[in-house]
Amino acid sequence: MIYDAAVIGAGPAGITAALYLVRSGVSTALVEDGAAGGQILSTAEIENYPGFPKGIKGWELADLFEAHLSPYPVERIRARIARAEAGAPGKPALLHADDGSVLQAKAVIACTGARHRELGVPGEREFAGRGVSYCAVCDGNFYRGMDVAVVGGGNSALEESLYLARIVRKVYLIHRREAFRGDRIYQDKVRSTENIELVTSCVVEKIAGQSAVETVAVRDVRTGGGRTIPVSGVFLYVGMQPSSGWLPADAVLDAGGFVQTDAEMRTDVPGFFAAGDIRAKHCRQVSSAVGDGAAAATSALSYLEQWHA
Ligand code: NAP
Repeated sequence: MIYDAAVIGAGPAGITAALYLVRSGVSTALVEDGAAGGQILSTAEIENYPGFPKGIKGWELADLFEAHLSPYPVERIRARIARAEAGAPGKPALLHADDGSVLQAKAVIACTGARHRELGVPGEREFAGRGVSYCAVCDGNFYRGMDVAVVGGGNSALEESLYLARIVRKVYLIHRREAFRGDRIYQDKVRSTENIELVTSCVVEKIAGQSAVETVAVRDVRTGGGRTIPVSGVFLYVGMQPSSGWLPADAVLDAGGFVQTDAEMRTDVPGFFAAGDIRAKHCRQVSSAVGDGAAAATSALSYLEQWHA
């Protein structure tokens, strides 16, 4: 079967794109290798998505997105796309999954988002799952009443520090600069939370322990002085790594691997569109992912009209 459109990735951008496509009557496949929801599944509380003035838990919003899409005849495909080939005029794109299966679609919308980036310090990989974590919502409960470190200065680090501070005894928030990149509202909350200690202008040098994490060693970039902080867990939030490696080689990426698109979500490959956190852009929010998804679907529908003309 050749689908009119294939949406790869079922986070907020992918769900929205699939919803717009299927409601427009085109045959749509939504490909996802895990549970639908994307990053919101590992976000404790979403406070800035309109319509939920009291905030909403990430998994609850994912459930609502899913409930909105489920009545429609979208073909749900469980697969990980490893490689894509652009279609020639009149020929569909080929999407090669890592299980050997091949999906064919006239238009493709890339919504595969981004994963948490590794910090790259000694002990990080060794203690992954034994004290080193990239998901406070998933693992925070293991550290109830203990001391933990959070590394990073963006919205993720600030938000997850606030989440952890409600569970653990103390959070050391370690950031390599004095100023935080995250939103002012979270900075103010972090500064006024008693059990969060700011360890700014410090870089992590090593995560160490016996069978599990016991310490994190930091160096002050201003003085050169070192400090070893006893912690049971280290939560790393040092940015995102886009999942864009599967796109055709002609798709133009920025230096960080994020996909360049125009304002209508078109990539440089005809028939390929991108939406959500995989895009090179400044604002990475659930609301902007949803907007991207709607715009990408609209552009894909125009592309399909030309295809059928
Ligand atoms: P981010 O905004 O890119 O921040 C990454 C942080 O990690 C920065 O503070 C950066 O330091 C630090 N960092 C990067 N490499 C490092 C290294 N090698 N050593 C030490 N520190 C390092 O990433 P994010 O917080 O994961 O957020 C990703 C996107 O999602 C952002 O656009 C963010 O606004 C959005 N987001 C929004 C919300 C919300 O609005 N509620 C929640 C979560 C995420 P520098 O500041 O010095 O570069």
